Amino acid sequence: MAFEPVIGLEIHCQLLTETKIFCGCRTAFGAAPNTHVCPVCLGLPGALPVLNRQAVAFALRAAVALECEVQPTSVFARKNSFYPDLPKGYQISQYDRPLALGGRVVLGNGTVVKLTRIHMEEDAGKSLHHGFADSDSKTYLDFNRAGTPLIEIVTEPDLRSAADAADCFSRLRELLVAIGINDGNMEEGSLRCDDNVSLRPVGTEAFGAKAEVKNVNSFRFLEKALDYEISRQAEVLGSGGRVAQETRQWDSDTGTTQSMRSKEEANDYRYFPEPDLPPLLVSDGWIADVRQQMPELPAARVERFVAAFGLSAYDADVLVRLIPGAADYFEAAVASGAPAKPAGNWIQGEVRRKLKEIGADSVDAVPIPAEALAALIALVERQVISSSVAKEVFEDMWSSGQSAQAIVDARGLAQIGDEAALTALVDQVIAAHPEPVAQYRAGKTQTFGFLVGATMKASKGKANPATVSTILRGRLES
Ligand code: ADP
Ligand code: ZN
Ligand code: MG
Repeated sequence: MAFEPVIGLEIHCQLLTETKIFCGCRTAFGAAPNTHVCPVCLGLPGALPVLNRQAVAFALRAAVALECEVQPTSVFARKNSFYPDLPKGYQISQYDRPLALGGRVVLGNGTVVKLTRIHMEEDAGKSLHHGFADSDSKTYLDFNRAGTPLIEIVTEPDLRSAADAADCFSRLRELLVAIGINDGNMEEGSLRCDDNVSLRPVGTEAFGAKAEVKNVNSFRFLEKALDYEISRQAEVLGSGGRVAQETRQWDSDTGTTQSMRSKEEANDYRYFPEPDLPPLLVSDGWIADVRQQMPELPAARVERFVAAFGLSAYDADVLVRLIPGAADYFEAAVASGAPAKPAGNWIQGEVRRKLKEIGADSVDAVPIPAEALAALIALVERQVISSSVAKEVFEDMWSSGQSAQAIVDARGLAQIGDEAALTALVDQVIAAHPEPVAQYRAGKTQTFGFLVGATMKASKGKANPATVSTILRGRLES
């Protein structure tokens, strides 16, 4: 029997506020353990939470950008559980009255994935099980993260393949980063994605029992973890078994998911409204402000790149979506005078290749300022250097930090534009290759490309190929 996957995502997104959600402690990542804590985020008796307005503003930005219905009144609730890294014995979250309902993400293939809700909550502290001399007998606790503001974005079970789920998550991530509320860093845990997966026989409507896969802490593993879970469940169902409703943990070392706890062991959180916080009221005016201050969203930027710069939709998509930081770099290069099409090609070609080579994914790692790239492109446009020489110059700029002009001057790379010099070169090539020349003159014109290549080689790449072609054709046909 063939099965169809059904997938829904739950995404936890740390908001980039300076301070925590209910106290004034800093949220900075990587500080010495337990240095950003106070009675509120440590849950000391009598300490009272005060809601961080900026956290709400960021959450609203996400809700508006994702086309959710922001609720004029939402309510914080206590989610009770006992964990060493949860000092109060509960997490302040939102339950039956979340900040926003509905919303959507549109995938690259046009599929619309509906959102269920977005709610606000606080993060827990961190249990450290490794890295200490006595780690085998002790667990250490760091409460710096306790009280970091989060939003949880929940999708409907609208996804039907691992690839679509990965695309959905990547679009959400880009959006959250583009609107400036999250750093997109899965490795540091500032963006986390839990994947709910079930299978149903193709052609049927009812959903099957789902497994929730946690601990996918790198974008690279998202699709892999889902593919593994889909084939695991297919095997269970295919051999007449039943999929257990459970939480599973992804293990990137083995590339498998392992059972963590079953539905029966699931917590009963005994939610109730948080008595120390009033309901959160969001006025229409506040939403209008959020809407007005919204940065440009990725989809709009792709459209603008097509309309304003004449890029293809594909090229615009690569710059805006697939290479982090590339869109800003591209706009800076164009602002420095580079024509759009070649600037886009350079970034998608050489810049991306070098980033791969050094194992970086963001344009932030490019040591060449956008203006310097624009100056290099200008040399090609003015035909001072050929595009193949330009690649060499680029390589040199990357390692030496020098300008394109300085490198061209120092290494004598300027193109031979002088017609007499080029004609002499062409004549040398014609003399050196009587065979292809004879073939060309006998009508086998395919040899022309070879002769152009040989002339380019003789010029060490410094000849202008168009000029070479013209001169060569003239000589061969005279
Ligand atoms: P739970 O009761 O386990 O919390 P919810 O109904 O709240 O489940 O849904 C949590 C997430 O799981 C959502 O992203 C939702 O889209 C997804 N989901 C719900 N049911 C299924 C299913 N049968 N198969 C796959 N995903 C599902
Ligand atoms: Zn605090
Ligand atoms: Mg639920």
